[in-house]
This record gives sequence, structure tokens and C-alpha cells, in this order.
Amino acid sequence: MRAFLETYLVRSLSRIIPGCYSQDRLPGEEKTAVLTFEDGPDPASTPQLLDLLDEFQVSATFFLVGDKVAQYPDLVREILDRGHTLGNHTYYHLDAWKTSTLSFVKDVSSCSRIINSVTGELPLWWRPPYGHATGKLVNWCQRHNIQTVLWDFAAADISPRATARSVEKSILQKIRPGSILSLHDNSRAARVTPAALQEALPRLIDENWQFAKLGSYAA
Ligand SMILES: [Zn+2]
Repeated sequence: MRAFLETYLVRSLSRIIPGCYSQDRLPGEEKTAVLTFEDGPDPASTPQLLDLLDEFQVSATFFLVGDKVAQYPDLVREILDRGHTLGNHTYYHLDAWKTSTLSFVKDVSSCSRIINSVTGELPLWWRPPYGHATGKLVNWCQRHNIQTVLWDFAAADISPRATARSVEKSILQKIRPGSILSLHDNSRAARVTPAALQEALPRLIDENWQFAKLGSYAA
């Protein structure tokens, strides 16, 4: 239910706030989607996912939480070395609807700074925790060269009732051309998400799905 409500919310937000991505801009009906993970890096989950993505030669975007970047800098460098995109998911996983704009943008900046200090890269994308964005924040981020990315469906991989099978089924049923799929690489998702992708990815690849980097098709 929570995943459903969040997906409904982000679709509505992306219509109300210009500049929020919840689908990549794809031409036609091309079977291409974007895979995203948030809340990492996490030693229980990220290494397994990186191996899996290598196995199927799929690239993804990892929206990182700053305080975990500080704890696991080697994992962050590994994500980048293996060809994936780094995104900003705030330093302390703050809720923008419960935080002043000033405190929030400071937290977003801190996250970009720590990513930059461990990799030399500045993220060009960010995702608001819980999908909670405001027009002011999206504008601020655009002015600072960082685009807001939501999602068009969440596979509910951190729901207490999630199983590898339920997450796999959700991915296979809901994926659409241009989908931005939201998954997690935190300790809660470690027991289901890698196992779900281990089943879902080969099936999708057999059906000619491809996974693009964020913005590959942006106009
Ligand atoms: Zn998150």
C-alpha cells in the first residue's frame, strides 16, 4: 500500500513540479528502462547487486545517502568503477516536507560534497527521500546543476511483507518503456532485491529489455 501511495504521489508531483523526472524521456515504444537503487551503499546489499549487474551487463543509478558514503567510501568507488551512475539522496535521508528549505539544501550540498571527496565526481541527479519534493527545492537543485529524479514504479522491496517472488512479479508486471524503477540497496532489501533481480533480469533481457543510464534519452 505504501509503495502504491508513493508511486501515486510521485506521478502527481512530477506533473505539478516542472523539472521532476518520473519517467525517462524515451522516443516511441522502445523497451528501455532505468534501474535505480537508493539508501546505500550498504555492505549487506550493494556488493551482491554489483555482481549481479555485472553478470547481466546492466547499468544502474545508485542514489547514495551521505552518511553511508562516509562509512563505506570503498563501496562508492566500486559502484563508479563498475560503470554505474552516482546520485545524491541527501546526507541524512531527510524528509523535505518536515525540514526547512535552508536545512534541506545544506544537507543535499553535504551529500554532493562527500560524494565528490571520495570519487572526484559531482552527482548530476538527486532523489528526494520518500519522493517528497517541493517546487523550491527542485528549482534550487536545477540552478545548481542537479536534476530531480523520482520514479514511475516502486517494487515495494522494503515492505515488511516483501518476498523475492513478490518483488520479481512486481518488476515483470509493471515495467514500461521509459520506466524509472525504484529499488533499494539497504540492509532491509538485502534479503529480497538481489534474489528478485536474479530471476527478473534474465527474463527481461530475453524479452529484449535494455537498461539505460539516466538521461540517456533526455532531449
Ligand atoms: Zn530513500
